[in-house]
Amino acid sequence: MSRINTVLGPISAEELGLVAIHEHIGYGMPGSELDTKWWKTPEERYEETVPKLRKFHENGGGTFVDATGICNGRDIDYYKSLSRKTGVHIVACTGFVGGDTALPHFARASVDYLARHFIHEITVGIGDTGSKAGVIKVGVSRGGRMTELDKRIYRAAARAAVATGVPILTHLAIDARPAIDIFNEEGLPLDRVLFGHVDDGVNAESTPDTWIIEQGGRLGFDTFGYETELPDPPFWARPRKDRMEHFLRFVQGGHADKVLASADANCSPLGWPGVKGHTVNYIFEVLIPDLRANGVDEATINKIFVENAADFLSIRN
Ligand SMILES: [Zn+2]
Repeated sequence: MSRINTVLGPISAEELGLVAIHEHIGYGMPGSELDTKWWKTPEERYEETVPKLRKFHENGGGTFVDATGICNGRDIDYYKSLSRKTGVHIVACTGFVGGDTALPHFARASVDYLARHFIHEITVGIGDTGSKAGVIKVGVSRGGRMTELDKRIYRAAARAAVATGVPILTHLAIDARPAIDIFNEEGLPLDRVLFGHVDDGVNAESTPDTWIIEQGGRLGFDTFGYETELPDPPFWARPRKDRMEHFLRFVQGGHADKVLASADANCSPLGWPGVKGHTVNYIFEVLIPDLRANGVDEATINKIFVENAADFLSIRN
């Protein structure tokens, strides 16, 4: 039977329910916890986060995939407590958002060290929490070109994915050629990779989305809700209509089995104000109604948020 590692232990694919595939309990840059102005107590974070996850659960959400890498505020004991309190399955990741958020200890490490570290977090556990990672996060550093460190992390992640059967989520899919070369060299089937943020306002134009699908990869339209219609939009915002048209091109163009969608929201951002008014519940409040209004049927909505997510997340042996 296919299974997925959550912070409270393995579950079957059937138990996942509707999945938010790329979200954050709380994302911050390395060191933000040292800035006393921004340091939130565990109680404050809890108070800010629990209602959002409860609402997610009430709306019909089953599983929240936390794409916060090592060094960006990942906190497994906290996730376990949130999952117990709200009934939402939480999947934690190993890996890094990008080479530029890996602290020096990891930034200087070899591919072999990084691969063994990821494998340990997937098969033995993360620190002494007893929880195992369910996905591996990698990403492109700021600047839009994969750095030597990004490539080292991608290669280590590919080795860990091949060894454990856990999939890879990427932050950004620009500069996709070197990434796909590495995955091919390591023998990782590309349907084990979700190429993320293909829809954001800054990177959508320079992301070779069709080519990625032709190679066998999956596309993550995972920044839904960061739209120019917000009162104070972030720099990666995009008009709602543009993003929806982009998504529908793939959903209605024969690739509904290759796309996943999410809101990339922060329940409680760390060391930055976050984007006001944007939460994981955008999926239920705006995105799914918008899909229906555009003629996407219930079976396709179920495919995107339930079936594709289950197929992607299931550990492949
Ligand atoms: Zn993210």
